[in-house]
Amino acid sequence: MFELSKEHEDFRRVVREFALAEVAPHVQEWDEQHRFPTELVPKMGDLGLFGLVVPEEFGGADADFTSLCVAIEELGRVDQSVGITLSAGVGLGINPILTFGSADQKALWLPDLVAGRALAAFGLTEPEAGSDAGATKTRARLDGDSWVVNGAKAFITNSGTDITSVVTVTARTGERPDGRPEISAIMVRAGTPGFTVEPAYHKLGWHASDTHGLSFADCRVPADHLLGERGRGFSQFLATLDDGRIAISALAVGLAQACLDASLEYAGSRQAFQRPIGVNQGISFPIADLATAVEAARLLTYKAAWLRDEQAVGRRGATEVKQAAAMAKLHSSTAAVDATRLATQVFGGAGFIEESVGIHNVARFYRDAKILEIGEGTSEVQRMVIARGLGLPVA
Ligand SMILES: Cc1cc2nc3c(=O)[nH]c(=O)nc-3n(C[C@H](O)[C@H](O)[C@H](O)COP(=O)(O)OP(=O)(O)OC[C@H]3O[C@@H](n4cnc5c(N)ncnc54)[C@H](O)[C@@H]3O)c2cc1C
Repeated sequence: MFELSKEHEDFRRVVREFALAEVAPHVQEWDEQHRFPTELVPKMGDLGLFGLVVPEEFGGADADFTSLCVAIEELGRVDQSVGITLSAGVGLGINPILTFGSADQKALWLPDLVAGRALAAFGLTEPEAGSDAGATKTRARLDGDSWVVNGAKAFITNSGTDITSVVTVTARTGERPDGRPEISAIMVRAGTPGFTVEPAYHKLGWHASDTHGLSFADCRVPADHLLGERGRGFSQFLATLDDGRIAISALAVGLAQACLDASLEYAGSRQAFQRPIGVNQGISFPIADLATAVEAARLLTYKAAWLRDEQAVGRRGATEVKQAAAMAKLHSSTAAVDATRLATQVFGGAGFIEESVGIHNVARFYRDAKILEIGEGTSEVQRMVIARGLGLPVA
């Protein structure tokens, strides 16, 4: 049996209050100005959000993965940019260091990341290697006691904020005996000569999330900045990706729930033909469908999170988690995109207007939803994973 405990629900309320007090009043401004709210990150750190799955010795709470999903869902219910800042900060920034870092690397980087004094990023995607991430062209050559990195990364979250301390990148470090590239993960400290953070992208959504292309020109980093084993960079990343997919699924649940909240409120209050629009089955039935889709998305997400927590104590296997994570992400992201289409329709003209305030600003969620079907593996990639898990011979 899996269910959220009283502690999870109490924690949900704490995060919800934080999101309403510290995020909701500023969301519109951050979104319009495409501004990453650096000042919010230490506040999230003070609440313990970045350290949820981190052991106490590094300042963390040693809580379960489910708690992190609860936090991401509740932040995402108010603002998706803040939700992805946490999701990527932990899943792509902290998690690889925690899982594969040496004792020295953990001691060096984790305390600041957990406190929200710093952010870390993970650069896997390249201009010519996204879904096919193993096609990475970035190279790192060992020269004396340094790695010399050359290449480029694309769309890297949290990589160019004022408090970004380190970006871990995958790079070819040689060739295997079978001719395939040897890919390793190398940590590059922000500000290292030869490491350039390109200007922020103009994105369709996630305006208050930090996303940059990165380039490396003879960028020299100490040899001990290798993360984990040489040649294991790609498989290490794949190992942490399932967590990321469950986290994105939780972010999608938050968005779909926000659309449901807004649609319910508006359908009950907006008058047309001298009665609330929710009187019409053409409005209320799709909202009933949306409530059902949100429930299903939440169940898939927390089932996957529960499996992940069971895996951590050896009661479930990685294969089961992988399948559950892909299914949760595929379903929840689709439900989220569908939810925004419905919510904007329920709101009529107001749904298309960016100035609509508070719960009525469903236009922002409409723009924010699409990336959920793309980041941390597209929906097609999730289908590939699921089909392979079913034993189908998918290429
Ligand atoms: C805002 C944002 C933030 C991001 N943050 C990060 C980050 O922090 N770190 C990071 O490393 N990456 C990040 N990404 C990159 C993201 O993970 C990739 O964009 C995503 O994996 C897809 O890769 P791609 O864009 O190269 O698309 P492509 O791989 O070029 O795919 C294009 C289309 O082809 C489809 N396709 C490809 N191969 C197949 C196939 N075999 N079968 C069927 N369909 C296929 C895809 O599903 C997609 O629809 C981010 C992206 C964005 C937009």
